[in-house]
Amino acid sequence: MSLFLKLLALTLAQSVASEGTDDWCYSSQAKVLNCSGPEAWPGYCQTGEQSPINIITKQIKLNYSLVDFKFSGYDLKQETFIKNNGYTIKMPLPDSAKISGGGLSGTYKGVESHLHWSDSVDKGSEHTIDGKAFAMEMHVIHMKEKFANLSMALASSDRDAFAVLGFLIEASNQKHEGFQIILDALDKVSYKNGNTSTKPLSLEELLPDVKNRKKYFRYMGSLTTPDCDVKVIWTVFKTTIGLHKDQILQFSKKLFYNEKIQSTPSPSSSPIKDFPIIDNFRPVQELKNRIVYHNGVEGLLPHTWPKFLAPLLTYLLAILLY
Ligand SMILES: [Zn+2]
Repeated sequence: MSLFLKLLALTLAQSVASEGTDDWCYSSQAKVLNCSGPEAWPGYCQTGEQSPINIITKQIKLNYSLVDFKFSGYDLKQETFIKNNGYTIKMPLPDSAKISGGGLSGTYKGVESHLHWSDSVDKGSEHTIDGKAFAMEMHVIHMKEKFANLSMALASSDRDAFAVLGFLIEASNQKHEGFQIILDALDKVSYKNGNTSTKPLSLEELLPDVKNRKKYFRYMGSLTTPDCDVKVIWTVFKTTIGLHKDQILQFSKKLFYNEKIQSTPSPSSSPIKDFPIIDNFRPVQELKNRIVYHNGVEGLLPHTWPKFLAPLLTYLLAILLY
């Protein structure tokens, strides 16, 4: 293992530790196991402005300060460490993966990326839009550049200590070549704590083309796993990522919440079964008094037309009457 990979592994270990105690679980696990489902998650999870949310497009507000993002280091192609932490698969991001612009107060550096999914294509995402869930959701987590490590970001009082980019994933007829590199590594991380590194891969290869990363929703929320720290400036991109249905379904088939079960010598005891990771998403949370902003009219014309049409019609009417 190269020094670089060791450093990445260290970052990942630190990130996993930040989840606090790991007796929390998703609703799908709580039904079968003796663990705390989302309504009993610890930390800040039952307080304040939580994530994910359902984005209601009739209620979003246009905000011209939500300019284009600047992405740097997203094109760095390298072997990527990947780990099953018993909830998802995580890929630590190098510090050099940075974002700025996008209405953020400064530069943010990469922490990690991970995924949420189901065993069907009509649910699996954390965020929903007008009540519609998507097949999967990818989260790309960054923290303010000033923080030396994740613990410092979690300990800070900055409301926007973290900037998380959410990409919704839909079923498509085409195979996604970038995600295939992750899929090719899944057999090595089937069980909790399994880890490996992928073939060389860059973030760019996973995301929509940069010109399709201009339209997005913005709101203030939280991390979506315990301790659900309310320190996140959220961006959910309008353009989805398309994966072939067969690719999407591999996550729920090949990954398990449990560690590898050792075969028991006693044939009389009923065999313990592997428990696949399905529905590893948190239910949507109350919006409360928050406003969800957006920065574009594409696909949202019905809600923004009146703003442009009213002055135009007044002008035309004035000409006609004159
Ligand atoms: Zn997430």
